[in-house]
Amino acid sequence: MSKSKLLEKNFIQKIIEEDKSSNKWDGRVHTRFPPEPNGYLHIGHAKSICLNFGIAEKNNGQCNLRFDDTNPLKEESEYVKSIIEDVKWLGFSWYGQPFFASDYFEQMYEYAIKLIRKGKAYVCDQSNEEIRNCRGTLKNPGQNSPNRDRSIKDNLLLFKRMKAGEFDNGAKTLRAKIDMSHPNLNMRDPVIYRILHAEHHRTGNKWCIYPMYDWAHGLEDSIENITHSICTLEFEDHRPLYDWYLAELGVYHPQQIEFARLNINYTVVSKRKLKKLVDSKIVDGWDDPRMPTISGLRRRGYTPSSIREFSKNVGVTKRNSVIDVVRLENSLREELNKTAPRVLCVIDPIKIIITNLPEDHEELMQALNNPEDPNSGKRELLFTRELYIEKSDFMEDPPRKFFRLAPGREVRLRYAYFITCNDIIKNKEGEIKEIHCTYDPKSRGGKSPDGRKVKGTLHWVSASNVINAQVKIYERLFDKEEPEKEENLFDALNPDSCQIFKDSKLEKSLQNATNQTYQFERLGYFKKDSKLSHKEKNIYIRVVSLRDSWAKINKR
Ligand code: ATP
Ligand code: MG
Repeated sequence: MSKSKLLEKNFIQKIIEEDKSSNKWDGRVHTRFPPEPNGYLHIGHAKSICLNFGIAEKNNGQCNLRFDDTNPLKEESEYVKSIIEDVKWLGFSWYGQPFFASDYFEQMYEYAIKLIRKGKAYVCDQSNEEIRNCRGTLKNPGQNSPNRDRSIKDNLLLFKRMKAGEFDNGAKTLRAKIDMSHPNLNMRDPVIYRILHAEHHRTGNKWCIYPMYDWAHGLEDSIENITHSICTLEFEDHRPLYDWYLAELGVYHPQQIEFARLNINYTVVSKRKLKKLVDSKIVDGWDDPRMPTISGLRRRGYTPSSIREFSKNVGVTKRNSVIDVVRLENSLREELNKTAPRVLCVIDPIKIIITNLPEDHEELMQALNNPEDPNSGKRELLFTRELYIEKSDFMEDPPRKFFRLAPGREVRLRYAYFITCNDIIKNKEGEIKEIHCTYDPKSRGGKSPDGRKVKGTLHWVSASNVINAQVKIYERLFDKEEPEKEENLFDALNPDSCQIFKDSKLEKSLQNATNQTYQFERLGYFKKDSKLSHKEKNIYIRVVSLRDSWAKINKR
């Protein structure tokens, strides 16, 4: 994206600046991030978080973290905990304590009474299905409910009885009395309260009527004195209802502003669908490193800054589009290229014997910790007679364009020496057991002694100085470009999204590795999977490849 486009103010910031100059909200800016605690947050939420908290920060305002917990059937405290952790991790702090919509249930109930008293709401005996059938279509008006003209007195009484638990689930609803022929279907006497005898994660069994989203959301914004209620585009058609409720109640009235939700190719951004993957155990929980959840991205090795940078770069618009997942990966690559220490590790090893070295030979070679960072210094690598290189860096019968090791060919071992392959030792099954090479003592440090060139430079580790590990190479979880469009989500899964190398050999300097991400030279960026690793077993995962190799693979 061009720099000028990036610097351009997004349309929401423009609205806020206009409001500030006209003193519309007494100069205040107060936003909120209002997740429903029915799953873990994903990268789409990250964009909303960065937008809402970012706008507040930029304008010296505040942003609330509010749990929109109005549906007792799907919500759990586990999700509340994870959401708090994720928002914190992204680097944002909210105004006061986290808020809960359920704390306003009493007040919302009082507001409903007020609406009934005004003659603007009624108790309806129609079932869900009848309500749906009487709603009409875009072309045809709906039909009034037979209960639409109930007296205020009866409505008050029935609503109180609904609250007292006298009716079964679905037996009655409270509906707004707006207009059954309104061109906007959302305005055709929408349901405000439904009966649901279910235990709520915070209010327990206190309530058996629960507010519908459109009713609850505007009231939550109003109660919290929000100025700009930023939500995704699918709520644009609900805005007239948001405004109607607040206007009829005559209460403080924030402004709803819609923006396009973030969609990413090869990715699913829907808690409901992600939950399916978790429940079916296709992934290792919500924080599986392949999941587009914030906890998955964190476990994978994404940093808060790379996600914030990505959110900023994709911008804020009014048009729905699909962002290339490579942009998310690139924002991490760019950061890691600058910050990740380099190490030499072999994930799929084959043994090399340097036959012109004595068995006890030990020599220390100097290696740069990060060529991109002049202050990162050097470390030492042990060079010995027995080494490992990557299996794929050797071919017994190579094609002409193969520039790595092969019989009779010479390559450079990074930071060490030139070596030439002279012999191959096979086991009974005919598999290669060892590759015998000689080294050129005059090529110390990997420098050519006489101007002769070698085309390949390989990474390696000393066989006597390694850490054993299991390494997991992740690919995209979905191999269909728009997995959400698939009728069956599972058909969109990439069957090869995890490849495991059980016997990898890592550079010894990693023995004290913590949560840091390293660049395994030539292989990509890797980190320890802190959830699964333990004292006896190191498990490393690939955070991201060095380049976007997927585009090439797909074209083959
Ligand atoms: P999901 O379908 O995954 O459950 P949701 O919109 O129902 O998403 P909420 O918990 O209601 O999830 O969302 C909290 C906030 O995050 C909302 O303001 C919503 O607009 C925003 N949000 C959710 N998904 C995206 C997305 N893909 N891009 C941008 N914002 C999003
Ligand atoms: Mg939702």
